[in-house]
This record gives sequence, C-alpha cells and structure tokens, in this order.
Amino acid sequence: MSSISENMVQEIVQEVMAKMQIADAPTGKHGIFKDMNDAIEAAKKAELIVRKMSMDQREKIISCIRRKIKENAEVLARMGVDETGMGNVGDKILKHHLVADKTPGTEDITTTAWSGDRGLTLIEMGPFGVIGAITPCTNPSETVLCNTIGMLAGGNTVVFNPHPAAIKTSIYAINLVNEASLEAGGPDNIAVTVENPTLETSNIMMKHKDIPLIAATGGPGVVTAVLSSGKRGIGAGAGNPPALVDETADVRKAAQDIVNGCTFDNNLPCIAEKEIVAVASIADELMHYLVSENDCYLASKEEQDKLTEVVLAGGKLNRKCVGRSAKALLAMIGVNVPSNIRCITFEGPKEHPLIATELMMPILGVVRAKDFDDAVDQAVWLEHGNRHSAHIHSKNIDNITKYAKAIDTAILVKNAPSYAALGFGGEGYCTFTIASRTGEGLTSASTFTKRRRCVMSDSLCIR
Ligand code: NAD
Repeated sequence: MSSISENMVQEIVQEVMAKMQIADAPTGKHGIFKDMNDAIEAAKKAELIVRKMSMDQREKIISCIRRKIKENAEVLARMGVDETGMGNVGDKILKHHLVADKTPGTEDITTTAWSGDRGLTLIEMGPFGVIGAITPCTNPSETVLCNTIGMLAGGNTVVFNPHPAAIKTSIYAINLVNEASLEAGGPDNIAVTVENPTLETSNIMMKHKDIPLIAATGGPGVVTAVLSSGKRGIGAGAGNPPALVDETADVRKAAQDIVNGCTFDNNLPCIAEKEIVAVASIADELMHYLVSENDCYLASKEEQDKLTEVVLAGGKLNRKCVGRSAKALLAMIGVNVPSNIRCITFEGPKEHPLIATELMMPILGVVRAKDFDDAVDQAVWLEHGNRHSAHIHSKNIDNITKYAKAIDTAILVKNAPSYAALGFGGEGYCTFTIASRTGEGLTSASTFTKRRRCVMSDSLCIR
C-alpha cells in the first residue's frame, strides 16, 4: 500500500514538474537587442568565434538545438497560435519535431574533388559570415529554428528581422538557440534580433556592410525588396499550389491526400494544396469523396459570396482569416457546422477569387477541366508563375512528366499530401525556406555557403 502511494506521489510530482517546465521554460533574452546595429555587431563577434570552430563543435551546438526544439515543441506551438491566431497547436508540434529531426546539419557541407595528372582541386563550401534573415508570421519559430540550424552548419551566424506579429514566438526561438550554443560550449548571439522589428530595422539590416547575404521568407513584397537591396538575396516567396487530379488517379485516395495536405496547420504552409484542378471525367467522383469521406463542407453560391466578402474584404486578404479553421471561417458568415468539418469546398472557375488567390486557409475550390491538357493549362495559370509548388494525382507517367515540365515548380508532389515534400511521409530533408523565386529550391546548410576552389597544381595526386 505504501509503495503504491509513493508511486502515486512520484507521478504527481512528475506531472507538476512537467507543467512547471512549461511555465518556467526559458524566457531569457539571449540574442535580443533594442538596436539593430547592436544586434548585428553582436552577431559579427559571434561569427568570428564560429569561424574558428571545428565542424564537430558546430554539430554539437546543432544537436543541442535539436534537443531543445523537441523539449519546447509544445510551448512554441502554443505561443505561435496564441500570438498570431493562426494554425493549430497539434500540427505545429509536428512541424517543430520535423525541424528538429530532418533539418540538415553539417553533413550537408561537402567537398567536391578532382584528382589527376595535374594535381588536386577541391571545391570547399565556406561561410558567408553574418546572414540577414526575414521570417514570416505563418511559420515563425519553425523558420527561425530551421534557418539557424542550416546557417550555423554552414559556419555563419544570423540576424533575424521577424514578422512583427510573431515577435514573441520568434524571440523565444532565438533565445533558445543561444541557450543551446552556450550549453554546448559555443558563443552567445549565434542568432540575434531586435525587440521591435520594423521596416526600418529591416532596411538597416539589408544595407549593413557586415551582411553579405539576405534570406527572405515571405510574400512577394519582401522578396522584391531583398532582390532590390544590391546584396545577394535568397528569395523564398509566395505560392498558390494547384493539385491536379487526372482520370488515371486513385480518386478516393487523391481526395484524402489533398484534404490532409490542405488542412495541415489550417493551410498555413506555402506548399499546401490551395485549389484542385480535376479532369471532368472524375470531377464528380472526387467531389463526392471530398464531401462524404473527408469532412469537407460544400459551400453554396451564396455562402461562397459571403466568404469572399469576409476573407477578401475590399479585395485585400483579411489577415484575421489566415490560418483559421474551416469551422471558424464558416462561423464568420453565420454558418454553424460540427467540429469534424475541416475544409470548405465548392466548384468554380479558375478566376473565382477564392481559387485564384493564395488564401492560406482551408478553402479548397475545385476547377473542372475538359481533359488533361486543359487541366495543365489551368493549373499553370493558377500557379501564377511563382514556380513554387504543385501537386498531381495520376498513374500516367507521361501525364506527370508533361505537367512537371509545364508548371516548372521547385516542388512537385505526386500521389501524396503536399507535406511529403517536407520529408513528412516522404523521403528527403525538411526546410521552411523554399527559394522559389531565386531558384535554390529547398534550402539547406549548403545553400548558405560560398563555393571556393582550392587548387594544388602538379602535386598531391598520389595515384
Ligand atoms: P509577409 O510577406 O507579410 O511577411 C514576411 C516577412 O517579410 C515579415 O517579416 C515582414 O515583416 C517582412 N516584410 C514584408 N514586406 C516587406 C518589405 N517591403 N520590406 C522588408 N520586409 C518586409 O508574409 P507572411 O504573411 O508573414 O507569410 C505568408 C507569405 O509568405 C505567403 O505568401 C507564403 O506563401 C510565403 N511563404 C513562403 C515560404 C517559402 O519558403 N517560399 C515559406 C513561408 C511563407
């Protein structure tokens, strides 16, 4: 009897400790500055230390960052949802685990060698120094953490100018990576930011002499600003990914995969399915599966109009609707649905505002195409030349190839939910910065390095 109560006491203590851990989770201010110039100076000092560190030491810090992300996944997820009002806690926890598990570290920094009669030549990947990074409110801590791992693995430190609407969450993540660095014997300020990021602090960062490279993750405005800065820029911009379904697809599975991808974190990922283009011969069947098996709500014409008025108030994307659940969106137009409803669907032309616009909410319009070629044309139109992401459900390799060539995106997922592209239910590594505009594609540590040729002529070839 006494041992049972001891166990019970231990369990209660553990539970209380776990709760305290969340409540007492680090709230320190490592890497947080009032002034952008001071932040950059601190990151520069840290970079001089990182530059001298071995790859093994960098990797030790990264291991510690990975552990801390996992320990803080729930706190970060809750903070992100509370602060921005976007997304859902369960999916955000998964996203943080994905960052911790699948963001490449120093193993991504490799050497290419040519060895022959005339000697040995190497291409080495060297750091840029201090990188400036601009991050979105849709995946705030995910992007800060993923960028920091990759940039540090490449031997850099980083100055963030996060979205002001997600500053608390971003500060929490920046503090966390510095705590990890200090714990692993590295310097403070491997990642820094300012308490109040603005366009002005962003401009200071973009123009600063000590920032040779800027990585921008966000909508078209920020990518254009970075590409006009006169500095080298990595531009991870907007998308509007269409999911094409042809007559050879497993239509039932396609419906399930598309809704799973579209509703993940309430459609916040830039890679998520934003609309469907379905070949006419399977369009009705697809709609049937969306509604009858995948908890989609079929919106009437009147409801579509009301949604358009709310979601695109005055022709502008209403930020209060971004990343909200289908139930919450429907409540905004006075429609009450059970909580199992996770997506809103309807059929419409490609020009329909709820279809043509990148909404980042679980609204999935279906465009009917007369045949495959017409479907490709409509999907290409809907992607708006972003060259970001697209998806297809088809068993016809010729069709898949034709679509891939026509749409020319950084990501093309076949027969799976979009998140397979992030290594979630698919092979490959994870990133939250997909350089669609500038062509690097899915960024990783090697993206944040300079290629250097190192030549030894007529020596060191010992074959
Ligand atoms: P946003 O463009 O409003 O903001 C992104 C960041 O850019 C923020 O830090 C913001 O403060 C800053 N910013 C905006 N305009 C700027 C300017 N003119 N100069 C300097 N900084 C500026 O985007 P958001 O709402 O935070 O995120 C959603 C958008 O980002 C969507 O379009 C989505 O597709 C895109 N996104 C792309 C990727 C990718 O990897 N390609 C990843 C996530 C989000």
